[in-house]
Amino acid sequence: MNDILHRFIFQELDVRGQVIRLSDSCQQMINNHQYPDFIKDLLIQSAAINALLAATLKFEGKISLQLQSKSGLKSMLVQTNNQLQYRGLVHFDDSADFSNISFQQIAQNGQMVITIVPNQGKRYQGIVPMNGNSLAECIEYYFAQSEQLNTRLKLFCKNNQVIGVMLQALPEMKQKENFEHLDYLLQTLEAEEAFEIDHDTLMMRLFHQESLSNLMEQNVSFNCDCSREKMLDAVLLLDVDEIADSLSRDGEIAVTCEFCLSSFSFSDVDLKKHQSITGNQTKH
Ligand SMILES: [Zn+2]
Repeated sequence: MNDILHRFIFQELDVRGQVIRLSDSCQQMINNHQYPDFIKDLLIQSAAINALLAATLKFEGKISLQLQSKSGLKSMLVQTNNQLQYRGLVHFDDSADFSNISFQQIAQNGQMVITIVPNQGKRYQGIVPMNGNSLAECIEYYFAQSEQLNTRLKLFCKNNQVIGVMLQALPEMKQKENFEHLDYLLQTLEAEEAFEIDHDTLMMRLFHQESLSNLMEQNVSFNCDCSREKMLDAVLLLDVDEIADSLSRDGEIAVTCEFCLSSFSFSDVDLKKHQSITGNQTKH
């Protein structure tokens, strides 16, 4: 099954929703990264959440979710564009034991930030209070507080796959019973069932008595937008002595993209050429 996101709306009830399923793209994101299981699940859940948020962007741009915690999670970052292409990365403390850690421990000492960066226009940044027993609950709380929108997000993670269903009341919703009714139906969804059936069957089972319209369906994919040019920019920010050492020792400087682990190597000529194009004044 493809990695896909569906948007739908219960027109009569003034509630909108999304369902997402990620598998191959998660695998690509975590491939060759040595993440403990806890970290892997957190990253995969964040990828799903970020795609759900990105799907509602009404402009070209990017949305990112950042999380850090004093409990060994130095930083987690997922970036998704409006075409639902994403990449993600975690830096964690090697010496920390994640085998028995709970989300609450991460949340207690943690901070989560959502940043929206339109290709044109002003960026927006919002702090997501770590108020909940899971990432999903934190997002529900965030929408309730910042947008006054009733939101319910159910996420299941298994074998490097994630399935998520999100319901959100539209601002014009008059009767909160509408939302509560759909929420009640959503709560009947079990992980095992969710992983076995496709989106259409899932929606049919959950909401078969409701009238809902499908709005759109979008593929979600892993895509790292690193390039030689961007890596050259990054290299030129390195310490000049470090660059000189590397060039004299190896005849090149090698760098690896932290997200997709692609490696790039540059000679002195490459660096000089890039400097002359960009006007970067690094001396070495
Ligand atoms: Zn990359």
